[in-house]
Amino acid sequence: MESERVIDFQSLTENVGRFDLRNKTFLIPQMSKIGVHLVAATFRGFGINAKVMDTCRGLDLGKEYTSGKECYPCQITTGDILYFLKKEKERLGKDFSPGNYVFFMPETGGPCRFGMYNKYQRIILDSFPELKDVKIGSLTTRDGYSLAGIIEKEQVRDLRKAAYFSIVIADILDRLLWKIRPYEKEPGMTDDFIERSMHVMEDSFETYGANKDFDKILDKLEEIINEGKTIIDPGIPPKPIIGIVGEIYVRTHVQANQDIIRVLERYGAEVINASVAEWINYTTYDRFREARIGFRFSLKQLRLGPMREYLKKIISFKGDLLYQELRQKQAYKRMRSLIDLSEDHKVADLDNILKEKDLFCFDVGTEACLSIAGIVEYAREGYNGVVNVYPFTCMPSTITSAIVKPLMNKLRIPYLDAPYDSAFQPGREAAIRTFMYQAHQHFKRNGISTGPFSTS
Ligand code: SF4
Repeated sequence: MESERVIDFQSLTENVGRFDLRNKTFLIPQMSKIGVHLVAATFRGFGINAKVMDTCRGLDLGKEYTSGKECYPCQITTGDILYFLKKEKERLGKDFSPGNYVFFMPETGGPCRFGMYNKYQRIILDSFPELKDVKIGSLTTRDGYSLAGIIEKEQVRDLRKAAYFSIVIADILDRLLWKIRPYEKEPGMTDDFIERSMHVMEDSFETYGANKDFDKILDKLEEIINEGKTIIDPGIPPKPIIGIVGEIYVRTHVQANQDIIRVLERYGAEVINASVAEWINYTTYDRFREARIGFRFSLKQLRLGPMREYLKKIISFKGDLLYQELRQKQAYKRMRSLIDLSEDHKVADLDNILKEKDLFCFDVGTEACLSIAGIVEYAREGYNGVVNVYPFTCMPSTITSAIVKPLMNKLRIPYLDAPYDSAFQPGREAAIRTFMYQAHQHFKRNGISTGPFSTS
């Protein structure tokens, strides 16, 4: 592919945004593997041709078309889309039609670089004459990831609800994996079982998602959990529990984080990673919080128009948040009656922790809000160690590290920063091994893990 880099500013607004996905192929980059597969299946249930792209196979292309200053997730996803389109062009020959594809790349409103990935990727795609017509479909945290405009109006709310539910179920499947793999009877059993289970849940979401038949999906999940429990070897004693926080893409993308959960498990850990639904709840909560602040401000100034607008937003975002938390709670409650999976943190509680401890503030925003408060929660719950996983130079995660490291030292809880780019650091394994030694010592002193068999 030949590229010529000229910035077309009009294209940045016209070819990045929310587009009608009917009759298009919607290309979703991998992040949490189970999460994106279930979301894609949900979209297919609504008649959208959603496809999960292979990941990291085009990393060389990603590196070639970035300067090295971008965040690692930007390099990976750039490589993913370029590789996919290259292969698609080879496969279809003259039938390749770039206008048929919408590449999914969401954004945040700031303050870090995530708002810029899709603009930068637009410039790269525009630099190939044959790829100019590939659209970039973007959802934004500014409106709490609204899906308006991508499908028939009457289906928008149902799609949002089903997609959110698919993320919750994917989180539960991930937690099931981390719960049983450290205690499996034979190496490899859990990975095979979870891969199979992911496909079962994909079929469930494709079949039942559009009708919001969530009970049928939960029935299937119950069967999966009961089967998963048979993989556990009851003779393996409980292990130290390690909590992971950090940047959502790298901490959930197994190749990006060089499979850190498996490495920790190799050194004797049971690991719990922060969930993906937590981030969705956070964006909804934050829009609600901002609307509340705006309302109070307009009330002080007695500006009726803005007050009305803010009130509408308060009602809308609060409604979404309540719905999400209720759905999440119901799903976890049912599964926790079968196996002891850890529940998700409630975002309002995390907000209160930061206020109470005066550590950070939701006004600053970013994932640092979730990571810092999440670590405090792990500490309160008695975890034996915490790992902060993030892309090298990630701004929110560096803030997290600066705030949390002294705190963990004071509490004598083992803590490890794990920044990643595409390089393999020779000292990484030694750092993880040392960290796990400390976690084992903490576990001996304080205990905590109840092992895989306890139910709440
Ligand atoms: S969260 Fe970190 S990795 Fe993501 S865009 Fe911001 S600085 Fe980059």
